[in-house]
Amino acid sequence: MKILVVNAGSSSLKYQLIDMDGEKEMAKGLVERIGIEGSRLKHSAGEKKTEIVQEIPDHEAAAQLMLKILQDPEFGVIRSTDEIGAVGHRVLHGGSAFTASVIVNDAAKQAIRDCFPLGPLHNPANLMGIEACEKVMKGTPQVAVFDTAFHQTMPPKAYMYGVPKMYEEKLHVRRYGFHGTSHRYVSRRVCEFLGISPEGKKIIICHLGNGSSLSAVKDGKCQDTSMGLTPLEGLLMGTRCGSCDPAVVQFIANNPLKDDGTPVGHPVSVDDVLTMMNKKSGLLGISGKSSDCRDIDNLADAGDPDAILAREMLIYGIKKYIGSYAAAMGGVDIIVFTAGIGENNADLRAKVIEGLEFMGAKIDAEKNRTRSEAVISAEDSKVTVCVIPTNEEIMIARDTLDLVTTGKVRDN
Ligand code: ADP
Repeated sequence: MKILVVNAGSSSLKYQLIDMDGEKEMAKGLVERIGIEGSRLKHSAGEKKTEIVQEIPDHEAAAQLMLKILQDPEFGVIRSTDEIGAVGHRVLHGGSAFTASVIVNDAAKQAIRDCFPLGPLHNPANLMGIEACEKVMKGTPQVAVFDTAFHQTMPPKAYMYGVPKMYEEKLHVRRYGFHGTSHRYVSRRVCEFLGISPEGKKIIICHLGNGSSLSAVKDGKCQDTSMGLTPLEGLLMGTRCGSCDPAVVQFIANNPLKDDGTPVGHPVSVDDVLTMMNKKSGLLGISGKSSDCRDIDNLADAGDPDAILAREMLIYGIKKYIGSYAAAMGGVDIIVFTAGIGENNADLRAKVIEGLEFMGAKIDAEKNRTRSEAVISAEDSKVTVCVIPTNEEIMIARDTLDLVTTGKVRDN
């Protein structure tokens, strides 16, 4: 069966068509600037690449264009949309309602809508993507795969915040965690790669990209993760500040500064401060120059003190989480690096593991020069350190296939 994987944002729609017979990627693409001047579609099928610049007023038009190019005589890979067996959608927030992926029906759509307050930027866009596909592919089953679902096995002591309990009971304020599809894929794949069972294994996964999160996985189940009610909590990220004293929000709201460092002169709202913490902080906010780790590395290597600090803060933060998750699980057997930084930045991996010999983790500098699946720890390292490239699309496609063929997902 061919499965279409869709990740809809507020002004974008990313897609990948996968032939599940061999799990081969057939084509992929990105529709950008939906509803904005300069909208375009970038598409590739193997070596063949094309770009279409045209007006794309809404997600339905984006979905229509995606189907058109997938059937294009030159750049397409299917003759009819009937060849698409089902569509799997990435949905950011499933709240506590979803512990696994589901076939989309009216109740599921309502539950996704109920999570709008928890994922105000993403969930409405994700639902638009689902509804657009429903319209242009009538009768094709749609499946929702949630970024939060894998983390639903966390115990209350890990997901509760220390605010009055009624906030969790009445308003669902708690840790949910994100990147769940990646953490789930990587935690399964690393065991497959090492030829072991997840049972009895304590794994720490470092998903380090523009957005970054760690998870502690024991017996294949998530025990804790660093992102929270929203993706703002946890590590320093590209543009997000990560965890800090909540009183910082009040202090900055009362004493805000303009981008040039001069006082605004009047208090700003909590929303304004959170926008700054989400979009102008992290590597960007500390370096003042870039949110991209490659730029930070280049600047730091050239001696830029702010970039050096940004890099040190990131590495220090990852180390602290690894230490705390190892303590929480009573040890660690495997540490995995994944996503853009985790897969590509060997130097950062080495610096994260440096100094963790006391807990049995030691890197092999030669083995660490990898960008693909590999064990990178030294022969005498008690902890196995690995690089496992993430593949959220394949996880979404597997869940979609499982749900439409057997009614339930394997190995949730
Ligand atoms: P997102 O969270 O947007 O999916 P990615 O997983 O693509 O992000 O990660 C983006 C980060 O990965 C950037 O900071 C970038 O510097 C880093 N990165 C991506 N590719 C490379 C590479 N080839 N070498 C070093 N760093 C890379």
